[in-house]
Amino acid sequence: MQDQAKAIAVLTSGGDASGMNMAIRAVTRSALAQGWAVYGVSEGYAGLIAAPEEGKIRRLTARDVGGILGLGGTVLGSARCKDFHDASVRARGIANLAALGVDALVVIGGNGSQAGAHALHEQGLAVVGLASTIDNDLEGSDITLGADTAANVAVDAVDKLRVTSSSHRRASIVEVMGRSCGYLALTVGLATGAEAIVLPEQDLGPDEVAQRIASAYDRGKHHAIVIVAEGARYNAAALAEILEREHRERVRFDMRVTVLGHIQRGGTPTVFDRLLGARLGAHAIDCLERGEHGVLVGLRGNEVVTTPLADVVGKQKPLGLELVELAQTLAQ
Ligand code: ATP
Repeated sequence: MQDQAKAIAVLTSGGDASGMNMAIRAVTRSALAQGWAVYGVSEGYAGLIAAPEEGKIRRLTARDVGGILGLGGTVLGSARCKDFHDASVRARGIANLAALGVDALVVIGGNGSQAGAHALHEQGLAVVGLASTIDNDLEGSDITLGADTAANVAVDAVDKLRVTSSSHRRASIVEVMGRSCGYLALTVGLATGAEAIVLPEQDLGPDEVAQRIASAYDRGKHHAIVIVAEGARYNAAALAEILEREHRERVRFDMRVTVLGHIQRGGTPTVFDRLLGARLGAHAIDCLERGEHGVLVGLRGNEVVTTPLADVVGKQKPLGLELVELAQTLAQ
């Protein structure tokens, strides 16, 4: 056994994701079970580097993380913190932890947050990352904490849109989140039987989208659904504008744009995300207990695994496009 942590801290960073609270609970209670002290850092890296008198780093007891597992978002709060790109600012965060006797940190977050975690590790802090982002774009985890809930929220919204679209014989052009990764769009598109799915990874031009909508109309459908990833070449509004301007006669359906936006972050964590949060959180503490750090904890198949943060940062997990073909085949 190498350096054993006696006091640890946990923070959530970047976009909030449902299931983060279960992860906070699992990290906290697993560490307490080891007899360690646990500190919760408010507002991500911004809280970590704040002046101590601001009180952003507080002791957590088992009771402090009670009653949170069914809540979306993160009870610790999250933030995006530009200053954290600066090594001297990060050193302030490490010093803040050292002043409390904290020698290890669990970072729950996505790509950017794990880049920050890696940078902290390079500066000597024992850090374990926990793969959590609705975008599901992190190398080192087949699925990231929060993606399942976000997909469920979006599917629920599209199911509702379909009802009103059918009543008015409309095409719904729906934009979903995911940054530059099409995972959410593809998942939602397949799960809702969308006529077309427009992804950053596979560019479906307006002409092809118009063709798919027209084909739905010709088959007597009363609605058409087009799912657009926020990182695609055209966002939903731009795509609808081109369809209206250049393909109106072909499309025929009346068209409406819906941008789901931050609604997708607000869901009650699904059972899947609760279990994932619990497993990843507990594993993060196992890692620290055996002196393993500088790694990301994620899921491969049904196994919780670790990947060196150095192999994770600066990459985007490629999207398996076989589901695109399946979605197309099934949307006839
Ligand atoms: P999501 O994609 O789900 O919103 P994320 O973790 O990728 O989550 P970002 O906003 O990209 O969210 O990053 C969160 C924070 O991580 C940033 O605000 C910044 O404080 C820190 N960060 C990002 N990249 C780096 C980096 N290269 N070095 C140090 N810190 C970084």
